[in-house]
Amino acid sequence: MVMTRQPPARSVPPAAQKHSRQTWFLAVVAAIGLVIVGYIVLVDLPQRRSAAAPPGGRQRLADIPFDGQRAYENLKQICDLGPRPSGSPAMVRQRELLRSYFEKLGATVSEQTFRVRHPRDGSAVEMANMVVAFQPETKERFLVGVHYDTRPYPDQDPVDPRGRFVGANDGASGVALLMQLGEAVKDMKGRYGVDFVFFDGEEFVFREGDPYFRGSNHFAEEYVANPPGHAYRQGVVLDMIGDKDLQLFEEGNSVDWPPSRAVVNAIWSTAKKLGVREFIARRGHTVNDDHLALCQKAKIPTCDVIDFDYPHWHTQGDTADKCSALSLAKVGWVIEEWLRRGVR
Ligand SMILES: [Zn+2]
Repeated sequence: MVMTRQPPARSVPPAAQKHSRQTWFLAVVAAIGLVIVGYIVLVDLPQRRSAAAPPGGRQRLADIPFDGQRAYENLKQICDLGPRPSGSPAMVRQRELLRSYFEKLGATVSEQTFRVRHPRDGSAVEMANMVVAFQPETKERFLVGVHYDTRPYPDQDPVDPRGRFVGANDGASGVALLMQLGEAVKDMKGRYGVDFVFFDGEEFVFREGDPYFRGSNHFAEEYVANPPGHAYRQGVVLDMIGDKDLQLFEEGNSVDWPPSRAVVNAIWSTAKKLGVREFIARRGHTVNDDHLALCQKAKIPTCDVIDFDYPHWHTQGDTADKCSALSLAKVGWVIEEWLRRGVR
């Protein structure tokens, strides 16, 4: 079959057809070469590809070892707390929920509290980053960050930009994924430890011009001014990763700094090995997010995994039904495998 598709006669230039023994020898060598190449192209490569992705190319929840359904239940539980802007009672309840959840997993939970002035009325607002440490005694660590506050108002909502914003994708999705990821990370015993960092005040923003990324900036400044007893090797920030229609392009800022580019390469190549095609190895939007403070101030190579093409971004429609267990499963699986390879 392969031979008929690759007629060896064509590979021999007309000028060489002199029927000398040497010409015949070359023709035979060329034919054998073509058979080998033909085998690789037609038989071997497709088999290798199918080993990476299940037949048909569409992964279902049951194909993925990361429990996306439980992650999705977490997402609904977080959304049920209601809007969770910095300093709100629902944010305090979320913090209590996360503390007890991760302490039950055996992690060490600490809070990094700080105070900012409310951008509208100048009053003091209490904020807290939460750090969940696995293998806390390990001096070199990986960081997985998400923001856990929600924007005070759905300013992009076409009907009511002062309405209710529950932030299912933009807020709860990353938190929900880390809750489930903790189930795997608690048993990862390697050379390196893992910290989950929940950033407060990512968007305590009431009007354009109000500062973003309060928590990640505070975290990065503290890391430099009062260095902890450990150092971070690499980090990833997950944001808006629950969208049903998931597409994860490489984020521009992450790609532009060579140390964070290495993290991008590692994560996207892990996704390729697992056959998770929603990680698309091409440059997408350039997004300012919590990773910038980590890269620029703390010099921790950190990439941002974000699906910025989300039709319900900053609207009242960013609710749990726009997210899916399957998307959480895919991202969770890739990040889990990336950590598994990293910590050993
Ligand atoms: Zn947002």
